[in-house]
Amino acid sequence: MYKDTFRHKGKRQQLVEVIIKKGIQDRRVLHAIGKIPRHLFMDSSFEDHAYQDKAFPIAADQTISQPYTVAFQSELLEIKEGENVLEIGTGSGYQTAVLCELGARVYSIERQRELYKKTKAFLNKIGYRPKHLSFGDGYKGLPAYAPFDKIIVTAGAPFVPKDLLGQLKVGGRLVIPVGEDVQIMTLFVRKSPTEFDKTEFGEFRFVPLLEDKN
Ligand code: SAH
Repeated sequence: MYKDTFRHKGKRQQLVEVIIKKGIQDRRVLHAIGKIPRHLFMDSSFEDHAYQDKAFPIAADQTISQPYTVAFQSELLEIKEGENVLEIGTGSGYQTAVLCELGARVYSIERQRELYKKTKAFLNKIGYRPKHLSFGDGYKGLPAYAPFDKIIVTAGAPFVPKDLLGQLKVGGRLVIPVGEDVQIMTLFVRKSPTEFDKTEFGEFRFVPLLEDKN
């Protein structure tokens, strides 16, 4: 049922070349993009486009992020083997799979029940085993499993949720696209219980991080 052919693999290597040209350097991130069968994370009607560097629609009016964006955020996280990583917005599970490939223990939250269920079953089938997938509101993080070494938000946040900053270890990193129509990729590094270093990167476009659904 899940086919990954030489043609898919070839296209995936071309995609890796494309994101190298766009500036991604982290070898482990590039290896993950080259390995994960992105076409399986998408609706079969989009399969032919799976290795273009573009976002595409998935269920529940959401999108699978652009590979370059996934790589950019993953690179900024600087993940080390065995770290606890919280992802907000499981979506298709593609970014989740990249984090698993990087050796992270992944906790991920999704607020669309349909996607949560579908992606949970799918990741299990193709052999990716995040530590914990949760159906709920990402603005609140996952206090029961905090603190985290790294936190990644994969939807556009109108503001930086306080709970997420609070659930970061000292020395930990939060990568979050902040803004309404356009988002600025922002990195927070926790310097002490009360201090954060903030660095801004370029503009990106995400579907919105929605509030108060549940
Ligand atoms: N990481 C995903 C990106 C999906 S798009 C991937 O690689 O496919 C962003 C996702 O965030 C959507 O699935 C959306 O439903 C989810 N989302 C939006 N608001 C949320 C919230 N408050 N809490 C958790 N997930 C949210």
